[in-house]
Amino acid sequence: MTQMLEVDDCGVSDFIMMDNIDMQSFMNNLRLRYSKGKIYTYIGEVVVSVNPYRNITIYEKEYVDKYRGREMYELPPHIFALADSSYKAMKRRARDTCIVISGESGAGKTEASKIIMRYIACVTGEQQEVERVKNILLQSNCILEAFGNSKTNRNDNSSRFGKYMDINFNFNGDPVGGHLNNYLLEKSRVVHQQYGERNFHVFYQLLCGGSDARLKEFGLVRDPYTYSYLDQSGQFAKVDSINDKSDFRGVENALRTMGLTDMNETLWSVLAAVLHLGNVKFEESSQTDQCMITDPSTLSLLSKLLEVDEGELEKALCGRVVAARGEVLEKKHSAEEAKYGRDAFAKAIYDRLFSWIVSSINQCIDLKTVSKKNTTTIGVLDIYGFEIFDQNSFEQFCINYCNEKLQQLFIELVLQQEQREYNEEGVPWVHVDYFDNKIICDLVEQQHIGILSLLDEACLNVGKITDAMFLDSMSDKLANHKHFTSRKLSPSDKSLQFHRDFRIRHYAGDVTYSVDGFIDKNKDTLFQDFKRLLFNSKNKSISSMWPEGSSSVTSVTKRPITAGTNFKNAIISLVDHLVSKEPYYVRCIKPNDDKSPVHLDEERVKHQVMYLGLLENVRVRRAGFAFRMPYQRFVGRYKMITLETWPNPSCQLPQATKLIINELSLDDDVLYGKTKIFIRQPKTVFALENARNQI
Ligand code: ADP
Ligand code: MG
Repeated sequence: MTQMLEVDDCGVSDFIMMDNIDMQSFMNNLRLRYSKGKIYTYIGEVVVSVNPYRNITIYEKEYVDKYRGREMYELPPHIFALADSSYKAMKRRARDTCIVISGESGAGKTEASKIIMRYIACVTGEQQEVERVKNILLQSNCILEAFGNSKTNRNDNSSRFGKYMDINFNFNGDPVGGHLNNYLLEKSRVVHQQYGERNFHVFYQLLCGGSDARLKEFGLVRDPYTYSYLDQSGQFAKVDSINDKSDFRGVENALRTMGLTDMNETLWSVLAAVLHLGNVKFEESSQTDQCMITDPSTLSLLSKLLEVDEGELEKALCGRVVAARGEVLEKKHSAEEAKYGRDAFAKAIYDRLFSWIVSSINQCIDLKTVSKKNTTTIGVLDIYGFEIFDQNSFEQFCINYCNEKLQQLFIELVLQQEQREYNEEGVPWVHVDYFDNKIICDLVEQQHIGILSLLDEACLNVGKITDAMFLDSMSDKLANHKHFTSRKLSPSDKSLQFHRDFRIRHYAGDVTYSVDGFIDKNKDTLFQDFKRLLFNSKNKSISSMWPEGSSSVTSVTKRPITAGTNFKNAIISLVDHLVSKEPYYVRCIKPNDDKSPVHLDEERVKHQVMYLGLLENVRVRRAGFAFRMPYQRFVGRYKMITLETWPNPSCQLPQATKLIINELSLDDDVLYGKTKIFIRQPKTVFALENARNQI
């Protein structure tokens, strides 16, 4: 019961209990707890979690029972307590809640989201429909991870997409439906991987686990290095911690449980097509600079797998049709252009396949028996953390922008809300300074003068606008921005080594980006010919992935929305969605880069503590009040402490609250707001709880 107050050899279980609020104390406490196997620590209601890199036995049924229905401060910190709080808010107070999980790659976000889902599955009903929905929510992970995760140098099972899942509960508190949103799949991985990394798991799963018959049907062999798309990064297909063969069975099982077996054929044949596509080579004939396919035998295989006409496929790979003044012309690619087109095609096929999987899962868990307005939701967000690599490109730029937006949301919801509440309740308040990162969000997203607008403007130009010209235009227009600089603006800056570098001062620190590839990645060009080709596939599922292929060559097609703007819109709508919910935060920390269960790398962890804003978070909690409770709930819970309020108070609720507090002489530590009592220190709550228990 006095768990939270214990300052024993495991350190404090809530950082707000630290004697001093500074980085060193924070680190000392975190290190001490980690060394004792205590991976969770609170900051008020925020859970700080350090990846243990080993299995710890704290997630079994007995732990579920222990945490079920209890208040957060009653038991040692645990992610179950947070899951339960969010569940209670949903069930008892009919509040929509969301659980935002953040941290860098390998910090334990995805594991945390799975632990939360399993907890929710454990504490809810077992009626047939509820059971079905729960099964899908749990099983879908296995499919999403096969197609969306990959071995990187940071994490053997790294999610290469962002995921937000809403779970809908009925009046009874049982899950009856859900919805998944995916964000920015790293599709470039399909055609290229860095040294030591793999392509998406599913390719290796198919080659290891597919039956002989199936592989034969798809013209595949088991050796991954036969395929150029799996042979980009050195030979790293085998990963010790991964069993591709049994994972393949897992995916097939999951598809079966979810009633999605009819997806099977399409899924695997499209994947096989991607692998074969990577092996298509082009050569230029000696007379003209027009290209041909070196080995036409893959063409017929590809046309069979994608169920498209072989001749049309060849045309789309080797050239494009353009409409000029009402006339339709065929324009042949050079070998270089053809190779570029092929890779863009492979990436797009995979990306659409992934979206198709997500929407198929959604169809399975769409609300069927209850209308949405009669449900309450818990959302779980597992999205990429801040990234600073040696080389940072467009992808890191998008991911870091997303983290700026989530930080804004955190500030908005936690810090500002806290301050606002004190004001509204008329409680005196010590102002806490914190850095508001809105200025950086604006730098990226503002209409006309934000980086994404400037980039779109550059992409609109039909002429030969280069990345360097785009960089120049940023340097001109953003010259006076405090958070932006470039080589042109700061010529003597050593960290801007290359002409193509620019730097953004993010809330989490400085990141230097190389502008190379920004225009190309933002435009994300895929020739119309490919879209028409697949729209005309005889396979209905494949065709349905390419609706825009229905427009004819001569019809004026709208310029597709750029990748950057698409991402921005998705993130803005995510934030709008989250803002309306009661937030719960899990802040994940990666202890070291070696996956070691014993080592806590001081510098690496400090940096994460800093950019997750954890110290500021503690300061705000501490400057104010650790606990607050509406008078009604307070009196309801503690009225037995004095006979003046037991069984029923004969006075108004605020007065009754005062009587209870005075009975225990706790007056020094509380303030009375308009509708709530504010309590500074946890020990006061424990005194109340003890008094309540002794009666
Ligand atoms: P992220 O999603 O943040 O990139 P993951 O959740 O994939 O990171 O975690 C990376 C790895 O760390 C996991 O594959 C697992 O081995 C280990 N891990 C993370 N959280 C836990 C945990 N709570 N218990 C045991 N191992 C964990
Ligand atoms: Mg992950």
